[in-house]
Amino acid sequence: MIKTRFAPSPTGKPHVGNIRTAIFNYLHTKSKDGKFILRIEDTDRERFIPGAVSYIEESLRWLGLAWDNEEKIHQSKRLKIYQKYADRLLEEGKAYKCFCSKERLTNLRQEQEKQKLPPGYDACCRKLTVGDIQKLEKEGKIPVVRFKVPENPKEVVWDDTIHGKVSIRTDIQEDFIIMKSDGYPTYHFANIIDDHLMEISTVIRGEEWIPSTPKHILLYMSFGWQPPKFAHMPLIVGPDRKKLSKRHGDTAIMDYKENGYLADAIVNFLALLGWNDGTTQELFAREELIKKFDLKRVGKSPAVFDIERLNWINGEKIRAMSIEDLMKEVENFNAEFLKGKDAKLAERALTVMQTRMVTLKDFTENSNFFFEGVKYDPKLLIFGKSTRENTLKGLKSVLKALSSSSVIPDSSLVIPAEAGIQSYNKILVSVVEAENLSNGDIFWPVRVALSGQERSPSPNEIMWALGKAASEKRIEAAIKSLEG
Ligand code: GLU
Repeated sequence: MIKTRFAPSPTGKPHVGNIRTAIFNYLHTKSKDGKFILRIEDTDRERFIPGAVSYIEESLRWLGLAWDNEEKIHQSKRLKIYQKYADRLLEEGKAYKCFCSKERLTNLRQEQEKQKLPPGYDACCRKLTVGDIQKLEKEGKIPVVRFKVPENPKEVVWDDTIHGKVSIRTDIQEDFIIMKSDGYPTYHFANIIDDHLMEISTVIRGEEWIPSTPKHILLYMSFGWQPPKFAHMPLIVGPDRKKLSKRHGDTAIMDYKENGYLADAIVNFLALLGWNDGTTQELFAREELIKKFDLKRVGKSPAVFDIERLNWINGEKIRAMSIEDLMKEVENFNAEFLKGKDAKLAERALTVMQTRMVTLKDFTENSNFFFEGVKYDPKLLIFGKSTRENTLKGLKSVLKALSSSSVIPDSSLVIPAEAGIQSYNKILVSVVEAENLSNGDIFWPVRVALSGQERSPSPNEIMWALGKAASEKRIEAAIKSLEG
C-alpha cells in the first residue's frame, strides 16, 4: 500500500516550500489510492513555536489537503517508543552514551579547524567502560546517546525516485546523536523509527535532506529494517535562479489566501514546481492533478518560482468559474465586503470584473464605485487634449441617446451580460458618429462619470452593471460638475 507522510516541524508558519512537499505527498498518494499521514515532528523543543501546529492545519485545510489519520501524530507524545529503540541499540552495542561537555566539543571543533581536519565528534566516549558510565551517572551527569557509525559499509547507495542512483561516503560520518540529554530523540532518529512503524512507502521531501539520508539508511540497517523509497524534490529558486526568498514571494502560505489567491490556483501552481505532465499544459483541475501526477515526471533541476505564473493561473481559474462559485469565493475571502450591498448589483459588478481580475482583491478593492456614489475632480472628465466643450457635448449626447434608446429599456438590469454590454457599446459608438467626435470624447468622460476612476472597466460594461437609470444619474452629475 502506498503511504506517505507530511512531517513538518512546528517551527513557524508553513511557507511555499513546506506546502509543495505536502502537495507532492498528497498527490502521489491520492493518485494511487494510498494514505497520506500528517505527523508533527516536534522533538526540537528549542525551535518549537506555540501556534505553529494550528498554522499547519489551517494551511492544509484551506488548500483541501486532507490527511487520512484521524489522530494527529505528535512525536513529542511518543518519547517512550524512541527510548525503547535507543535502548535496543545500546544493548546491541550499536549506540553508546556520551558524556562530553559542550566545552569539550567546542574545543574539539576549534582544534579540528586549526588543523584543517574534517569536523566531527572523535568518538571519545566509545571507550567508556560500564564502570565509567555508572560512575558518571552517579555523579548526576546526563548523557546523550550516539549512534556508533559502523565501519562498513563505507558508502550508502540508494535508488532515488527523482535523482536516480545516489551514493554517499559514510567513512567520514561522525557518530551522531540519536537521543538528546533532555530525553527527546533527534530528528534523524524519530524520523526513521516513525517511518518504519508507520509503514511509509515513499519519503518525499526536499533535496536539502539528501545529506541526511545516509544517516537514515545506516539506522535502518542497524535495526535490520528495509528503508522506504526516497524521492528528493528539486530546490525552489526565484526567477533570478537565487534561493527562494521573501522578495520572490516566499511568505507564509496563508498570506496568499489573505491576498486573494484561490486554493486551487496555489495547488496547481505548486504542483508545477518540479513536475509537469509531459506536455506544456499549465492549468489543471484538482482531479486532473490527482490522476496525472507521477513522481517519475519530477525533474532534478531547480524549479523556478515565478509569481507572474501564479498570477496568471489565479486569473485563469477565476475566469473559469461560474459567477455563483466565484461569489462564494469572494464571500469566503471577505464577507464584510458584501454586507449591505445589493446582491444582484454585486453579481453584475463581479461579472464585469471577472474578465480582468488577477486575485479576489481586485474585486473587493477596486469595485466600490459600482456600489457607492463617485467623487472625482471634474477635470478628470476631459480626455487628453480634448476640451471642456467637446466633453460636455459628448456627455449630453450620450444622455440623450440613452434616454431615447428603445434598445435598452430600464429593464436593462435583466439583459444578459453580453447582449447588454454590446447594446450600450452600440449607443456610444453611434453618438461618436452622429456628433462627429472622437472616441476619447465619449468613452473616456462617460467612463469617468460612471466610475470616478482613471482606470476601470469600459463604460458600456459599467452601464450594463449599473443599469440605465443609475448610469443616467451619474452622467447628469458629471455634466453639472463640468458646468459648475
Ligand atoms: N521534520 C522535517 C522537516 O521539517 C521532515 C523532513 C522529512 O520529511 O524527513 O522538514
